[in-house]
Amino acid sequence: MVNRFFHPQLLESGTVVLDGLEAHHLMHVLRASAGEHVEIFNGAGRVAQAQILAIRKRDAELQILSSHHETKPEREIIIGTAVPKGDRFDWLIEKSTELGVTRLIPLVTSRSVVDPRDSKLEKQRQAVIAACKQSRRNYLLEISHVMAWSDFVNAVLPGRSSYIAHPTGDRLKLVSGDSASIVFAVGPEGGFKDDEVAMAIATGAKAVSLGPCILRIETAVLALAACASLG
Ligand code: SAM
Repeated sequence: MVNRFFHPQLLESGTVVLDGLEAHHLMHVLRASAGEHVEIFNGAGRVAQAQILAIRKRDAELQILSSHHETKPEREIIIGTAVPKGDRFDWLIEKSTELGVTRLIPLVTSRSVVDPRDSKLEKQRQAVIAACKQSRRNYLLEISHVMAWSDFVNAVLPGRSSYIAHPTGDRLKLVSGDSASIVFAVGPEGGFKDDEVAMAIATGAKAVSLGPCILRIETAVLALAACASLG
């Protein structure tokens, strides 16, 4: 399979210059040479077939041979989640990208213990790009700024098919009437407080169980992502 590279300002035709991490990947990791064919995507649906024209010290120039625009996936999948400790959030981001999640929203709830700092956003964006390259996804996963639970409930849940993962809820069952925009929420290690669940239910959200075992945050997120993207 042809190797893929990311360039946010990809045009329909002409030439394109890859620099920074993308040039490093092409020149030093893959050791590609002039004449080789690659694929470039802009993370917003445009995909181009291209040929390497020149490899220079710090960048590489490529000729676009053809390009097309891929339409967005039919279903928008939004997941608001408490942030797990250490590297587990990076893993959650990588796997959510592979499974087609549209947007991740780091949440602060009453029992949150990890402060989901925005300062890690650039590292997380690179993880998204790498996962898109590997999985051949052409729309980047969006990582929103951190949201307080009440803001998430008031701004994101209304108007969408919305589900709160909660061990005492009814077993999760997505229905064919679910809207094209579906939103899930996953709580912290200590779980959601009853009043937080009630606040979400008041907007029309359903509390749903993912089975009898208590899952870690990232496992619950991926179970929900798989149900929505495959179901
Ligand atoms: N003791 C906590 C509770 O009772 O909610 C467990 C928290 S669990 C480690 C972290 C989050 O994952 C939960 O807040 C919930 O959103 C989700 N979760 C984990 N296992 C689940 C299950 N079996 N059913 C529904 N949600 C689950």
